Amino acid sequence: MKIHEYQAKELFKQYGIKVPASVLCEKKENIEQTIKNFTFPCVIKAQVHSGARGKAGGVKLAEDYNSAIITAEKILGMELTSKQAGTKKVNKILIEQAVNIDKELYLSLTFDRANEAIALIISNQGGMDIEETAKISPDKIYTQLITDNFNPEETVKKLGFNSIINWQICSIINSLYRLVKEKDALMAEINPLVITKHHEVIALDAKINFDDNALFRHEDILALKDEAEENPCELQAQKEGLNYIKLNGTIGCMVNGAGLAMATMDVIRLAGKEAANFLDVGGGASSDKIEKAFKILISDKNLKAVFINIFGGILRCDFLAEGVKNAIQNLNIDIPVIVRMEGTNKSKGADILNHSGLKFTVVNDLNEAIEVIKNI
Ligand code: ADP
Ligand code: MG
Repeated sequence: MKIHEYQAKELFKQYGIKVPASVLCEKKENIEQTIKNFTFPCVIKAQVHSGARGKAGGVKLAEDYNSAIITAEKILGMELTSKQAGTKKVNKILIEQAVNIDKELYLSLTFDRANEAIALIISNQGGMDIEETAKISPDKIYTQLITDNFNPEETVKKLGFNSIINWQICSIINSLYRLVKEKDALMAEINPLVITKHHEVIALDAKINFDDNALFRHEDILALKDEAEENPCELQAQKEGLNYIKLNGTIGCMVNGAGLAMATMDVIRLAGKEAANFLDVGGGASSDKIEKAFKILISDKNLKAVFINIFGGILRCDFLAEGVKNAIQNLNIDIPVIVRMEGTNKSKGADILNHSGLKFTVVNDLNEAIEVIKNI
């Protein structure tokens, strides 16, 4: 789960990481009142779950009161398009004291799955072009795996700053590490971490990504979820207890079991098409749940067909067939639906579909499924 910069900065404060003074603003009518309390220059920052907001026009410096108002009114409500996150409406802005920047660094703690450890990644070439640095001068980016008696000092020394700055950076790394461990974050990034003209080290940006599977033990973090930022289909699926991830293809798939879902996406690929989603309805789905899953599936406007691939174990094929039949009747679906069922009550399930008066293509195996999908 991702959170906004302003929320991440609140957490930083709790862990003793310095951030500039700032105020959140969600309504146009509050802009003037909020900006009145600032000294200038200040920075207006779009609060959306996206990187590269600066390049997309979502972070702007304002030199005085009037330009701050004009800029804030422009950014609040704008559609922000970035490479990373597509187009998003800006519903909140952060008005922040501008900092006198001497140097921009990059700092992150992220999971290195290959080494089964958290990795510290740091560079003295941070800021909006960190991706370029990674391409052109990867030697300027230092990585250290965090082990039991972790000390970031040696790595930080490589950045080439004096000991007072190094001490501050080490202290921020230690605080960020404590945050990551205590709150089960998968990634925490400060880009840029800046050294000011007054030799202070401050976090100007803040990104944290939390482990969804650990959220049950962090009510405080879960409360930070901004539903407006989530994909509406994914949100609905979460509420129904379904594992749904939206993808960019045209063939919707409904499958029980994550492994079979992955294999089904491969099958769709073999047929020369792309899956529109990943959907695992789970082992014990009822026909009611199947209907709900179907509803979520077909709300995707790119959909050209639905491929249902179910192994009837705990979820019996006749339950599945009942759910699918009801969904198609109730939702008025006119795209092809291909069904492959195997396992418990297979023939009962096939009977329900074949006698429903609706158009299904019931296939016997995956090779047959590939042939049908190829021709869609
Ligand atoms: P993003 O990474 O989404 O583009 P950032 O918060 O990193 O957004 O802001 C982009 C750039 O704007 C920073 O690299 C920094 O140069 C500048 N900036 C951001 N906040 C401030 C601030 N409070 N004072 C001065 N400059 C800032
Ligand atoms: Mg940034």
